[in-house]
Amino acid sequence: MKALDIFIGGKWRPGGGEVLQSHFPADGSLNATLNAASLDDLEEAIAVGERAWRAPAWRNALPHQRARILHHVANEIEARVDELAQMQSRDNGKPLAETRGLVLSAAGTARYFAAACELLEGELPTPRIAQVLTFSRYEPLGVVAAITPWNSPIASEMQKIAPAIAAGNAVILKPAEATPLMALELARIFEQAGLPAGLLSVLPGKGSVIGDALAHHPRVRKISFTGGTNTGRHLAHVAAEKLIPASLELGGKSPTIVLEDADIEQAARGICYGIFSSGGQACIAGSRLFVHQHVYAPLMARLLELTRGLRIGNPFTEGTHVGPLINQKHRRSVMDYVALAQQEGGRVLCGGEVPADPQLAGGSYFQPTIIEGLNNQARTCREEIFGPVLVAMPFRDEAELIAEANDSVYGLAAGIWTRDSGRALRLSEQLEAGTVWINTYKVFSVSTPFGGFKESGLGREKGIQGLKAWMQQKSVYLATGNGINHWCD
Ligand code: ADP
Repeated sequence: MKALDIFIGGKWRPGGGEVLQSHFPADGSLNATLNAASLDDLEEAIAVGERAWRAPAWRNALPHQRARILHHVANEIEARVDELAQMQSRDNGKPLAETRGLVLSAAGTARYFAAACELLEGELPTPRIAQVLTFSRYEPLGVVAAITPWNSPIASEMQKIAPAIAAGNAVILKPAEATPLMALELARIFEQAGLPAGLLSVLPGKGSVIGDALAHHPRVRKISFTGGTNTGRHLAHVAAEKLIPASLELGGKSPTIVLEDADIEQAARGICYGIFSSGGQACIAGSRLFVHQHVYAPLMARLLELTRGLRIGNPFTEGTHVGPLINQKHRRSVMDYVALAQQEGGRVLCGGEVPADPQLAGGSYFQPTIIEGLNNQARTCREEIFGPVLVAMPFRDEAELIAEANDSVYGLAAGIWTRDSGRALRLSEQLEAGTVWINTYKVFSVSTPFGGFKESGLGREKGIQGLKAWMQQKSVYLATGNGINHWCD
């Protein structure tokens, strides 16, 4: 199999680093081989990027001219939804129904930031000094770093590239080791859409090598990272040392809450989707379930029924709900958590094992798993598992519920199921989470800011502020009269 080229400063060529492989998680077969970027490749990408974002043709391009490139990108993605979804499913094993959604969301993100950059307005504050006009405008940061994980590459990569390019920067994207395919294809799409060379480089490689060198590089003026909390904390230190902004989308252990008046059917379906879609490999997975004791029995009965009915299988088979986990190593870590839950006194109500179906033997599959009998202090309830494992806990009253739901180092998301919207809104004020879903879960809008409270992150992506986050404000004072400065008299 021919090794794939990578995209360094506008040129396609083999990386100078070690060999990386992308495997299909459903059977372990090889998708592609490539050479990671070397430190020399990184230097080149940054030098070319630095020239590219300063080049007058790009620096002076009007927002609607930059937006045009993003619209071309969106058109191309929309024309190739199935093909791109298949590529994404091969790389990380997510079922096609999900990857189609991710591809379409990437196109929507490109269009949203095209529109946002056309509409972005500077500021003209009310004067405070006679005969001096002050205004401020938004300018690019320069060369910026985007570092992404393997769970939703096309969506999380577009969420960074689109606003960064719309804002006028040059982006160096470091995709996750396991999933380089989508990032490289996105680079082709941006190149074909007319993005000037050097404004986007894609440098696959180890996080500890190429990711770390990228973050530390003195010319890199922002780090936008999505991934684990420990890596995020490390990158926050790097950014602090360099005095540059860092946007960090990190882990979660999100509570979903079922109040006594909830529509049980709606709640059970939403909870099932919120934890088991993507095989639970989502930072926002609703992994802690708090159910009012009066409805615990019927809710759990219906949830178990739905979960047992989920179809586990090949991501390319239409109708598959749950595909394989990303790889065998990750499955081992999920299995270790299930064993830990049992040692902690948890009872496995369903799942908890590798599926018996011999057709699935070659992939890193794991059954959707529901555990009860633990309390919120258990490690299983405190640590992010990033797999299809839900812990269910009954609660008695609202005060106890809020204390437990918030008793986590994380604060990414929360779900509330109730027919009482006033009560839901009151609860949403008390929950420490960057996103609260009421009678729904894991739905996203690119116009709505996303990010975490506490150790779930720093900064927000999406929304107009998601564009401003890739820019810096410059204020200008313009004297409209003379004789205002008498100091030298
Ligand atoms: P996950 O658990 O989702 O893999 P990681 O934080 O390990 O989370 O990885 C997310 C991204 O961060 C990947 O692209 C990975 O290569 C990168 N990464 C890991 N360690 C570092 C590091 N020290 N510096 C920069 N990037 C890193």
